[in-house]
Amino acid sequence: MLGADPRPLLAANWKMNPVVRADAVELARGVAPAAAEHEGAVEVAVFPPFCWLAPVAGALDGSGVGLGAQDCHWERSGAFTGEVSAAMLSGWCDWVIAGHSERRAMFGETDEQVGRKAAAALGAGLRVIACVGEREEEMDAGRTEEVVRRQLAAVTAAVPAAEAHRVVIAYEPVWAIGTGRSADPAQAGATMGFVRAGLAEAFGQEAASRVRVLYGGSVNAANVTSYVELASCAGCLVGGASLKVEEFSTMIEAVAGVADGRGFPPTPTLPREGGGS
Ligand code: PEP
Repeated sequence: MLGADPRPLLAANWKMNPVVRADAVELARGVAPAAAEHEGAVEVAVFPPFCWLAPVAGALDGSGVGLGAQDCHWERSGAFTGEVSAAMLSGWCDWVIAGHSERRAMFGETDEQVGRKAAAALGAGLRVIACVGEREEEMDAGRTEEVVRRQLAAVTAAVPAAEAHRVVIAYEPVWAIGTGRSADPAQAGATMGFVRAGLAEAFGQEAASRVRVLYGGSVNAANVTSYVELASCAGCLVGGASLKVEEFSTMIEAVAGVADGRGFPPTPTLPREGGGS
């Protein structure tokens, strides 16, 4: 079985930014030097809006920075106005995000659809970041693990174990996204450990050990190390802070510092960190 990339992953979700093409190119060019400098220790990938994939690909050519789309449709083609299929993305980028909480909340994406997107992306030769995470009221009701288990099961059911190495799971508590309220690292570590256990159950220990689990939710230059230092965490999915060249470059450097000091990916049999959810 093929192995996953052993480096921690810093994935930059640009969301619906920047508005102007030249700014997207400038942002990509801005982060490329830090990514290139630390390429041996950290994998960096950026996820611009669909319309900037081609110009950003040009700007990143030869930089080692990966490129991904923020969403895809599971069908190959057809009457799906406004949609872009995974098959269409193949050749334009390497990655796709499936099931970001903003898509679940604003566009009614279901667990089943997220699984279909993940399967379609893998079928098209892409790598997938599948997002899971509880809403605030679910956390308050002590339902974090129940929600994460359900969302994760929809992804693992759609992915053969032999393809697991092309999947990354991002644990992103919804209440932490874009709010400045980053999750307590010990708490996030506990839930990422729970995700890892779910992956092992679904894929077996060996295949599961090839799946990187990321944290996302108000990660910035000041707190990124506290997540990447966790044994269960193999990187971060970053929104707002990834739009700032200097800050994101500092984050790449910080993650490289942690990666240099320990082996990746985290071992499959992990002790739980911190308390429960
Ligand atoms: C995200 O968009 O996945 C995200 C984590 O955003 P932010 O870093 O802004 O919270």
